[in-house]
Amino acid sequence: MSIISKDIQKAIALLSNDELVAIPTETVYGLAGNIFSEKAIQRIFKTKKRPFFNPLIVHVSSVDAFEEIVSEVPEKARLLAHTFWPGSMTLVLKKNKNIPDIITAGKDTVAVRVPNHPVTLELLQKLPFPLAAPSANPFNHISPTKAEHVERYFKNDIKMVLDGGACKNGIESTIIGFENDEPIIYRLGALALEDIEAVVGAVAIKNKKATNPDAPGMLDKHYSPKTQTVLTATILAEIENHPNKKIGILAFKSPFKSDKISAEIILSTTSNLQEAASKLYDALHQLDHLDLDVIIAEKLPETGLGKSMNDRLQRASFTSS
Ligand code: AMP
Ligand code: MG
Repeated sequence: MSIISKDIQKAIALLSNDELVAIPTETVYGLAGNIFSEKAIQRIFKTKKRPFFNPLIVHVSSVDAFEEIVSEVPEKARLLAHTFWPGSMTLVLKKNKNIPDIITAGKDTVAVRVPNHPVTLELLQKLPFPLAAPSANPFNHISPTKAEHVERYFKNDIKMVLDGGACKNGIESTIIGFENDEPIIYRLGALALEDIEAVVGAVAIKNKKATNPDAPGMLDKHYSPKTQTVLTATILAEIENHPNKKIGILAFKSPFKSDKISAEIILSTTSNLQEAASKLYDALHQLDHLDLDVIIAEKLPETGLGKSMNDRLQRASFTSS
C-alpha cells in the first residue's frame, strides 16, 4: 500500500507520537519530526544515514514563531525575514536555550525557515511544536521534489508522505548566516542572490567547507545521482570523451544532435531558469534510473537560479581524485 496521503490529521497524529512524516515544501520534500522529541530527531538521522555533524533546519509557521527559536536577530535578518518569508530562505542565527543540541550539531546557532507551501503551513499552524526537516533523501542522494521520489527512498522506513504535489522551486533553500550582523550566504539556493542583494546590499558567499567551518554540511560531493555525472559548457566535446558508453544528456534549453546520446532531458525550452530549477532534480532522478554509464549536464548561465543550479551540479559531479 502507498504511504502517500493528503490526510493532515494523520500527519499530526504521527508527528505528535515521535514518528516522522515527509512534508511538501516549495523547495524539496522534507523528512520532518518534532524538534523537542529526541526519539524523532534520532530517527531523522538514522533514516537518512546523515552524520550528526550536519545540523537540521527548523521549520516554523510565521515570523513570530521564528522569534521564539532564536535569541538575537540582527536588523538585516529581520528585514530579510519580513521580505522573503514564507519563502525559500533559511536564516542561521544564535539559538534560544530551549533548542536541543542534536538539532544544531552542538553549535550555538540554529537554522530556521518559514516554508511557502499551503499544506505544510497549515500543518505547522496546527502543531504545538516546530518541525526539524532536512531533505527527505538518504544522505548524499538527490533531493526529492515529488511525493513519489520520497516513497521510492523510504517506503520501508516511514509511515507517511504528506502529498503536496510537485515542488514549485525544486532546489533547496538559500542559507544565510551572519557575521558581525552582516549577512553571508552559506548555501546558494532557490532564492536568487540578486533578490537578496536588492534588499540588503552586497553579500559575501562562503559556501565551501574548506573556508567556512560555520557552515557544516557544505560538502564538496553532495546531491549526487548514482550514475557518474559530468558538468560542462561544451557537451558535444565531452561526448567524445566517453566512446562506446551509454550517455544521458541534461540540457538547458535545446537538444544536442548526436547519435551517441541514449537519453536526453531539456530543462526549459524557453530558457526560463525558474522552470529549469523546478525540473532539475526530477530530471536527475529520471536519468539515474536509465542504467546509463554517464550523465553529461550542461552548465547553466551563471545568473540568478542558474548559479544555484551550477553549484548543485558541481557537487553532483565532484570527484576527489
Ligand atoms: P538540508 O536540511 O538537507 O537542506 O541541510 C541543512 C543544511 O543547513 C546543513 O547541511 C547545514 O549546511 C545548514 N545548517 C543547518 N543548521 C546550521 C547551523 N546552525 N549553522 C550553519 N549551517 C547550518
Ligand atoms: Mg539535504
